[in-house]
Amino acid sequence: MKKHNFSAGPCILPQEVLQKASEAVLNFNNDNLSLIEISHRSKPFVNVMENARSLALELLGLEGKGYKALFLQGGASTQFLATAYNLLDTKAAYLNTGTWSTKAIKEAKLFGDIVEVASSKDKNFTYIPKEYSIPSDADYFHCTSNNTIFGTQIKHFPETNVPVVCDMSSDIFSRQLDFSKFDLIYAGAQKNMGPAGTTLVVVKEEILGKVNRTIPSMLDYKVHIGKDSMFNTPAVFPVYVSMLTLEWLKNLGGIAAIEKINEQKSALLYNEIDRNPLFNGIVATEDRSHMNATFTLTNEALTDTFNTMWNDAGINGLNGHRSVGGYRASMYNALSLESVQVLVDVLQELERKA
Ligand code: PMP
Repeated sequence: MKKHNFSAGPCILPQEVLQKASEAVLNFNNDNLSLIEISHRSKPFVNVMENARSLALELLGLEGKGYKALFLQGGASTQFLATAYNLLDTKAAYLNTGTWSTKAIKEAKLFGDIVEVASSKDKNFTYIPKEYSIPSDADYFHCTSNNTIFGTQIKHFPETNVPVVCDMSSDIFSRQLDFSKFDLIYAGAQKNMGPAGTTLVVVKEEILGKVNRTIPSMLDYKVHIGKDSMFNTPAVFPVYVSMLTLEWLKNLGGIAAIEKINEQKSALLYNEIDRNPLFNGIVATEDRSHMNATFTLTNEALTDTFNTMWNDAGINGLNGHRSVGGYRASMYNALSLESVQVLVDVLQELERKA
């Protein structure tokens, strides 16, 4: 039996996607060749890339609105610097809500002045700062929509006149937002899309070409747009699996449908964490992530018992990140409500035993 996979990333993907992906590795498109041994310039793969790019825009509701979708390499970490390389002329504004924002700020500082508009570092990133202002002369504002490690999520994005750049690595395609309020969105595939190895970048073309520097080709969004995301050999397998996952999501009813399920899952778990005297949530209630729920045991003496119980229940990946401790239940799109119920049953069983 497949484990209940609460891993933070790489993480659970839909079983039917894994099935189709494994078939394509052996025989893609009934051509008696593997997906990973054909040319990326062959018609069948070009179709995959085009399909993946248009599905991404369609699901985000951004078709025909001046956006381009790219599947690039180098992880979200490369986007920390690519965004600054392409957009930062003199000054940019950053909201610091955790490890990944901090890393994005570090890279951007290589290219200009960074104004940290607010930070939640004072409380180990357990909340989302709310009161801050974004300088109107900033080249852009950068934020991280979901903080994978700490388990916080931005629920209300600021209104601003400057372009908004958002790292959505760990909650893209999980909830409805007005995505047209963002000018550049990036997300590593390895949460709600596919295997590690490709990164989705969705960019509004009109914000490009405004910086006074020469951009190396591999980091230049315009170059990738000009080559339809095929400037160099793309990560064919991760792009293919991402396409399958996006098709799966579309067939399910898109983001609106998965958002309802995600809300049910997170409500089920957070209600139990709040009810059960043996557990405490780690972050501010109003900022809790629907993707990554972080919590601790109120009595550390129960650690071994609890760890044995969830392992025995077939649960995987529940340990918290080393910088936070405790536990983290990641409930990405492909995780079922039933899996969350199994975890909740273990929490209740521990209460009965203790
Ligand atoms: N941003 C966020 C929100 C993340 O969770 C991660 C890690 N999964 C990253 C950026 C870094 O991504 P990558 O490992 O693809 O560089």
